[in-house]
This record gives sequence, structure tokens and C-alpha cells, in this order.
Amino acid sequence: MYRVLARAYRSTTFDEVVGQEVTATTLKNALKSGRIHHGYLFTGTRGVGKTSMARILAKALNCLAFEAPTPTPCCKCESCTAVAEGQDIDVVEIDAASNTGVDNIRELRSNATLRPARARFKVYIIDEVHMLSTGAFNALLKTLEEPPPHVKFILATTEIQKVPATIISRCQRFDFKAINTDAMASHLAKIAAAEHVQTDDGVLRRVARLANGSMRDALSLLDQLLSYDPKHLTSAIVNEVLPPPHDELSAAVLQCVADRDAAGALRALDIALQTGRTVDRFCDHLIEHVRTLMLLRVCGPDTDLVDVAATIRTTLISQAEKFDGPTYVYMIALLEELRRNVKFSGAARALADAAVVRLAMSHQFTDLGVLLGRLEGNDAAATASPADAKKNAAPDSAARRGPTPIAPAPSRSAAEQPAQRRTPAEWERATRDPLVQRVKAAVDGTLLDIRPAQPAGANAAPPSEVADEGEPTLFATEE
Ligand SMILES: [Zn+2]
Repeated sequence: MYRVLARAYRSTTFDEVVGQEVTATTLKNALKSGRIHHGYLFTGTRGVGKTSMARILAKALNCLAFEAPTPTPCCKCESCTAVAEGQDIDVVEIDAASNTGVDNIRELRSNATLRPARARFKVYIIDEVHMLSTGAFNALLKTLEEPPPHVKFILATTEIQKVPATIISRCQRFDFKAINTDAMASHLAKIAAAEHVQTDDGVLRRVARLANGSMRDALSLLDQLLSYDPKHLTSAIVNEVLPPPHDELSAAVLQCVADRDAAGALRALDIALQTGRTVDRFCDHLIEHVRTLMLLRVCGPDTDLVDVAATIRTTLISQAEKFDGPTYVYMIALLEELRRNVKFSGAARALADAAVVRLAMSHQFTDLGVLLGRLEGNDAAATASPADAKKNAAPDSAARRGPTPIAPAPSRSAAEQPAQRRTPAEWERATRDPLVQRVKAAVDGTLLDIRPAQPAGANAAPPSEVADEGEPTLFATEE
């Protein structure tokens, strides 16, 4: 019978777990020295080996081939084989996602008082523990505080921030890292060899990059490829079957932004979303990509803060040169705003399109800001943007690096004409202008207003005859 790769190649010993060497070593040493805690908490994104590690720890605690807990369980005894299958009577796996209630935990507590049937410990592995209800957490807390000596808990979660601090502080916590691309690719190569599959250069690395740190995702992608051709995986098959990695899609969008090509950026976004990614997933990827470029730009190409495969590092370094530090900060702020907004919007796609256009055409958007500033008689506030601070620091940077998201300079006419106070009638006309209304509607609430806060007193006083009706502004400025 065919077993999916993720199950067939699940790690069975501490030394086999890929990418979590620190956790594995710490647990092995604890087992060797007998300093075994009664509660462990494994946290990390999905598919990084939490459940595998929990089962290995359970085997290590209960292996029948040894007199005491061992760092090297035999993997052959009744206990080890049953645990590996998730069928052991003394090692109870609970999926908190489907057992959220207080009753489930009460039942667990009353069973926990019973001695284990054949092994040394009763081990409870609670997966996705953050899904428990408040009542269930409280019930669990009592047991975690003073468990019977024969009971061990292994809690696993992908969302540590949802686990109460009282639970966390009663466990030994291990943070599982996303598995880096090189380690994953070499593990995939071993599996391919074991399955007698030939692979072209770069195929497995491509799979590893797509999996984004999750071994389980990598193995199911490999499964998918193998059902297309179980003998030989070529680059052509990968191109056919798998979507392009998100960093390529993100790079394509940013390239268009750098070229101020809004149409191209929209097309690139469309391609990215056609591959089945949701808008907020894509935002995550784009933010991560921009962050990588920012680190490369700010810390230099050799920085170890960036964890990318050697093969794409060169490409990223050359892309990083296209923008400067403040621009990256602006982009991240804008994309983060977008990411938050799409979660609560029925028009996520439109917001994403608008944000991409704004990034690509931000030079024009800021000209508009200057224009609106002049309407408000407020040149200083409208033009003294972070871009100007940057421009003053490095006057040639804008020209040399091409686009910056904020206008390189106020338009000539703005610079030439002194600020003018508008009469109330002019204000009325200006704010009722359909174009201004549309721009206001498009920008308000959806995207960042990049103007700095107005300094107290500066240009703030409206003409006295307007004061009674409140200060006229195009944008709501109160925070
Ligand atoms: Zn054993």
C-alpha cells in the first residue's frame, strides 16, 4: 500500500529530525542526565517536526528495551512501534482543535491518576493546544502544576501567543525553527534516492523553497510531483506542476514598482494570485521579501540576518540596490496596512491592486499631497516628508537609484509660489471637486497618509471666519 512520503519518512530518532538540532540535543542531554521535566511546550509553524519530536520523546521516555528513559529509543519494542503509529495506550495524543472543551480535560485528569498500563510514564501529547477553551486551560493548569509523578505532558502549538502565560511558565519551552532551504533540499535528496527517483539539478531546491520552511509541505509537493512522474523529475515537470516560488512572484512585482510600471505590477500581482494564494498570504510574502531586501541594503550583502539560499542571494542583492532604506520602511508600512485591511474587507483584491498601483506611482501620489497641502495653505507640512529628510541627507540618491515612493522634490510651481490662505469659498470649491473627493475616498482609511503630523501651531489656525464651522481639512487628521 502506498504511504504518503510525509508518513513514510517521518523522523524516528532525535538524530533524524531535520533542522531542529538544538532542541534534539537539549532533550537528549536531559534524558541522559535524568533531568526530565513534567511538561514540554513545542512551538513553531506547521510542518517543522513538532509532532515527530513529541513522539520521539515519548518513545525515549517509555522504550521497553531500556531500564530507564533513554536518548536512543530502540524503535522496535511494542511501546516504540505503537507510539510511532500513534496507537499506544500509555501515550495519548489529543488534538485540541477537536477537543476544546473543559470536559475533555477533566476526563484527561481523571485518567491521568491511573498508572500507565505497561510503560514507565503516561504521556499526553496535546496538539494545537492554543485551541483549548479558557475553562479547559484552567483545568489543565491544575494538572500541570502538580502532575502525578508518572505523568508527562508534551504540548504543541503553532500559535504561542494564544497560549496563556500561566501554561507557558509551567512548561519547558522549545521554539522550533523554520527549516532552512539547504537542509531541506539535502533531506529531500536522501528521500529521492531512497525512492529511486532521478532528479534534475535545482528541482529539489525549488521544492524546498516553495515549502517555505515546512518539511511536511515539501514532502507533499514531492508526492504531487511523483504522481506525475514516479521515475524522473525534470525542471519541465516542476514548471508544469508547481506554482513559481513566492519570492519570484514578489520579485516580479517589486521589479515593476522599481520601473514605475503600474500596469506591469498589476499583471505580476494577478499572476501571483492566480496560483491560488490569498491576498493576505501574498502580502505576508511580499512583506517578507521587502524585509529581506531591506536587510541586504542596510546591513550589506554579507549579512547573516538574511537566511536565503546561496543561489538566489545574488539576485536579491542586485534587487536590493533598487531602493534605499527609507523607501523600504515606507513599503513595509504600506503593505502591513494593506495586510490588516484585507482581513476585514470584502474587496481585498481591489485594495491590493490599489496598493500596488500606489507603490508604483507613489511619485505622483506625493505630488498630489503637495497639491493638497497648497490648498490647505500648508506647504511645509505637505512637503517635509521623510523623503525630503532623506533627500537632504543624500541629494543625489534619488537620481542615482531611480524611483523612490515619495516624490523626489516638490513640483516647481509649488516651490515658486508662496503659500496662500484660501477663502472659505475657495475651500468649499476645492473640497467639493469630484476629483479631490474621489482621491480622498480612495486614500482615507485604506492606505497610509504619509504626511508627518502637523507641528503644533504651524499653519494650524484657520481664517477666523471659518473657525466657527470647524477647521477645513481634506483628511481627518485627529488620532
Ligand atoms: Zn523501544
